[in-house]
Amino acid sequence: MRSPAGTRSAEPGRPNRQSDKYTRFVSAGLGRELASRLGLPQPAVLRRYEPGAALITGPVLVEGSSAGADALAARLLDWDLDVRRHAAPKTKLGAIIVVLDELADPSGLSGPVRSVGASLRDLSANGRVVTISRPASADLDPAGAAGRNAVGGILRSIAKELRHGATANGIILGDGADTTSVSALGALRFFLSGRSAFVDGQFLTVATGSGELPQDWDLPLAGRVAVVTGAARGIGEAIARVLHRDGADVVVVDVPAAGEPLAAVANDIRGTALQLDITAEDAGERILAHAKQRYGRLDIVVHNAGITRDKLLANMDAARWDSVLAVNIIAQLSMNRKFLASELFHDHPRIISVASTSGIAGNRGQTNYAASKAGVIGMVSATARLMEPFGGSINAVAPGFIETDMTGKIPFATREVARRLNSLQQGGRPEDVAETIAFLAAGSSGGINGSVLRVCGQSLVGQ
Ligand code: NAD
Repeated sequence: MRSPAGTRSAEPGRPNRQSDKYTRFVSAGLGRELASRLGLPQPAVLRRYEPGAALITGPVLVEGSSAGADALAARLLDWDLDVRRHAAPKTKLGAIIVVLDELADPSGLSGPVRSVGASLRDLSANGRVVTISRPASADLDPAGAAGRNAVGGILRSIAKELRHGATANGIILGDGADTTSVSALGALRFFLSGRSAFVDGQFLTVATGSGELPQDWDLPLAGRVAVVTGAARGIGEAIARVLHRDGADVVVVDVPAAGEPLAAVANDIRGTALQLDITAEDAGERILAHAKQRYGRLDIVVHNAGITRDKLLANMDAARWDSVLAVNIIAQLSMNRKFLASELFHDHPRIISVASTSGIAGNRGQTNYAASKAGVIGMVSATARLMEPFGGSINAVAPGFIETDMTGKIPFATREVARRLNSLQQGGRPEDVAETIAFLAAGSSGGINGSVLRVCGQSLVGQ
């Protein structure tokens, strides 16, 4: 996670410095032909979000015969989509949405799922499959739970079968939500759009109908004030830039040693810089004081700052262990206590914490880092109920292999294997993490609370 000060590694719309040359080589001309003949991986150039661009190209097929499917299909017409309720052979599709909200048992899967199978060959490059279903819980009858849980196996398998940059993700509707609830629509739009380019094989639970849709989908954060920690470079810098592009005023925070690149980021995005070590006891108060003085409010907190100090546990010293835990989780816990107690942060606040797939799967040499990131996931799930009184939410984003200066320093062969070990056969970009965070920061995700969303291209590491 190190890059030279001042690196512009992740400006939305601009290629990352560490971009994957192999992907570019095999995506056209001689390179494509060669890779095809030799049976080498052919990662697609992913469709990424551009403000003002079409949400998706081509018709959207809504499969399913429930009232929820009808209501959703009608609602999607508001987005100027070409919505189809029946497949027409050989018509290229932009997306297939499978609504299974009334599934009662596994035998109900055969019709809709085989129908999706028949349309998959017509899915365009960078197309989307999205399932909408209900959660399997232990208090259901066994057949109902089997059917609902089966959706997980289907969706994750489809994601592994898709090619050419297409992805498959699922929305799970809790008791308080239906297919046209605000956050069901928000999550659906995120999964259909280029914002979710590197999110694949994942589920998002929409628990309630809370949240609100933006007046302008290209400026979902207009009028909101955000703080991003660790924003002088890398993923944090990309988050600050994307939140600004989406309409927020942004306070960028980093250690005093990164003051110069931090000021440059703040300047570029017309935000403000706050030099601060987040492990300082008064870090929460200082962020609140800065936000109050400059903007009079604070709405969005992105806990991105993080460090690694890798060592096998047998060789782990106290300094390595303590510093990683202090920055990656203990500082967040302390700052959140201050934020939650402040009236400045009580208007539908949002907290998004950056975890890691290492916190889910564990990683050799990273007991300290994996502990801190698994800790983040635990903290997020237990803080969710504390956000409810303010109409707020807290969620975690768990990146997999992201093309940063850190991963750029991994020896070539190891890096090449690590970045291909996912369904999209490539590393993600800092802005892929940033887009996901911006989605979770928006009003349209208000019904999503206490979740972990992986941005990993359906990494083979972990679940
Ligand atoms: P990076 O090292 O490039 O940037 C981290 C930033 O945090 C730096 O600017 C650093 O100065 C700042 N920071 C560190 N300690 C701080 C402190 N005490 N107070 C304030 N700022 C501090 O890292 P990155 O690759 O951009 O990673 C960002 C986040 O994403 C981290 O939480 C990391 O664990 C997580 N992550 C990264 C990857 C990846 O592939 N790069 C994968 C999974 C998770």
